Amino acid sequence: MPGSVKTEAIVLRSMRYGEADRILHLYTPHRGRTGAIAKGVRRARSRFGGRLEPYFRLHMVLYEGRSDLMTVTSAETISGHPRLREHAAALDSAARACDAVSRLFDTPEPHPGVFALLCNELALLDVQPEQATHANQLAFRLKLLLAAGLAPHLAACAVCGEADGLSAFSGAAGGVVCSGCEASGFALGEEAHGFMTGALGAPLADAPAAGALALRQADRAISETLEHHANVRLRPALPG
Ligand SMILES: [Zn+2]
Repeated sequence: MPGSVKTEAIVLRSMRYGEADRILHLYTPHRGRTGAIAKGVRRARSRFGGRLEPYFRLHMVLYEGRSDLMTVTSAETISGHPRLREHAAALDSAARACDAVSRLFDTPEPHPGVFALLCNELALLDVQPEQATHANQLAFRLKLLLAAGLAPHLAACAVCGEADGLSAFSGAAGGVVCSGCEASGFALGEEAHGFMTGALGAPLADAPAAGALALRQADRAISETLEHHANVRLRPALPG
């Protein structure tokens, strides 16, 4: 039924369309990922100003008609995250975080926890841009896996339930595996295992530190879990 929808939203992508319009990919708490068109936004006297840009958190009123795209009626800034934009690494991390949400939660299905997580990540990168690290990006992805119901099994062997000798990770099994079952996985050291457990249990700002090798192993564990169980491939967690 046509009508107006009030919602908070984060702008994931903003694309030029036609002479003066923009098409937005938005992430919202109760309508998941949704598309909207903002008309006349690129005219000098547009009432939207510059706030329909990626990483803005907005209060929006959207008109839902017959089209797949809703129409932006109004947009008020909650946070534009201005400091994040001054740091190349923080800006890159914000882009990867938005892209990960966009690929893993690409439907209108509501996931208010994912919206809150993305808000936290953008706010963290804005207040502490030095947090734009590989560890932060992986901690964010682990929390997305948890929200998607795909959190890896980390407490015991995902194949046989053995609690000792957990030496590998299997994307197909969905977690760590013991030395008896490791044929199905790749080597995952204690440090990587500890990082994943710690990151899942702590707020984003307190994600544990880990060495480069452990982070690469955790990264592979996350990627293989996503490929096997969600059929999703994300952009690399690190540039380059
Ligand atoms: Zn086992």
